[in-house]
Amino acid sequence: MREFAYVRAADVAEAVELAGPQVRYLAGGTNLFDLMREEVERPERVVDISRLPLSAIEDLPDGGLRLGALARNAQVAADDRVRRRYPVLGRALLQSASPQLRNRATVGGNLLQRTRCRYFYDLGAACNKREPGAGCDALGGFNRTHAILGASPSCVAVHPSDMCVALAALDATVNLTGPDGERSVPVTEFHLLPGETPQAETVLRAGELVTSVDLPTEQRWRGDYVKVRDRASFAFALVSAAVLVRVEHGRTAAVRIALGGVAHKPWRAYAAEELLIGAAADEAVFGRAAEEAVAGARPLEHNAFKAELARRLVRRTLIELAGRS
Ligand code: SF4
Repeated sequence: MREFAYVRAADVAEAVELAGPQVRYLAGGTNLFDLMREEVERPERVVDISRLPLSAIEDLPDGGLRLGALARNAQVAADDRVRRRYPVLGRALLQSASPQLRNRATVGGNLLQRTRCRYFYDLGAACNKREPGAGCDALGGFNRTHAILGASPSCVAVHPSDMCVALAALDATVNLTGPDGERSVPVTEFHLLPGETPQAETVLRAGELVTSVDLPTEQRWRGDYVKVRDRASFAFALVSAAVLVRVEHGRTAAVRIALGGVAHKPWRAYAAEELLIGAAADEAVFGRAAEEAVAGARPLEHNAFKAELARRLVRRTLIELAGRS
C-alpha cells in the first residue's frame, strides 16, 4: 500500500472542504482498503468521516424513513422500522457480504462500492475503468459474472451491491452535500451506465458527500429480495431481484422490479412493470413480464445463463408474492 495522508473531518462542512481529486472519504473502509491494498485506488489523502453524526435512522414527517449515510448495514437490517415497513431492504442487506462486513459497512459506502470485476483489481490487465483508454480484458476474457444489460464496448462490469437493488425498487432518494450546497438525487439516477466513460460511476460532483438516503412512505407492498449466487453466503449475486407488488381484485395494482448482478447499475425493469400494471395477476402475465425484464439482454461468451436466471427469478418471485396477497 502506498503512503497517504490521514485527516479526520470534524464536521460535514470540513469534510467537503477537504475533498479533492486525489482524496477519498473513509467510512467503514470495507471496499476502500481492499482497493488501496491492491493499488487500484492511490489517494494522496484519506479523509476519515466515520465519526460524523450521520449514523441515525430517523422517521420522516411524511411517513418515510431516513437512513444516515454512516448507518451500518447490520444496524439498518436490524432496525424494527426497516423490518416492518421495508422488509425487501432488510432481506437484501442480510444476504450481502458476511456478518463481520455488515457490522462495518455503511449505507453511503454500500452505494459507492466499486465493481468486483477481476480485471479491474488486476493491475496487469487492461481496464478502461481503472485506466481510461486502456481497453477491457473482460470482453475477451472470462466474463461469467459480467453484465448482460446496459453494457458498452468500453466496460461490461456489474454493480455489486444488494442494498442498492432494494433501494432502486423502493424508489429511494440519495441526499448529498457539496461545495454548492445540498441536493437530492433519485437512487435510480445516482449510478451511471458505462457508455464511453466507465470510470464515472455515479452522478456525484467533485467534493460531494452522501449524507443520507430517504425511503418513501411504505405503500402496502408485498416484497422480497431474492439472490442467486455461487455459494450460500459471502458471495456476490450472479443475479438478484427486488420485487414489490400490490395485487387488488386479482389484478396488479402496483409493481416495481429491480435486478442486480446484470448491469453497471441496479437495473429497473420498467417495461415489465408497465406490462403488469392493471393486468391479471396470473402466471401467464407474470411469465410475459419476466421475458420483458430481460428483453434487451446482450450476453457475453460465458454469461448467457444470466438472462434465463433473471427471467425465472422474476417470474417465480411475482408468483410467490401474488400468492401471499
Ligand atoms: Fe475494467 Fe469494466 Fe472491463 Fe472490468 S469490464 S476490465 S471494470 S473496463
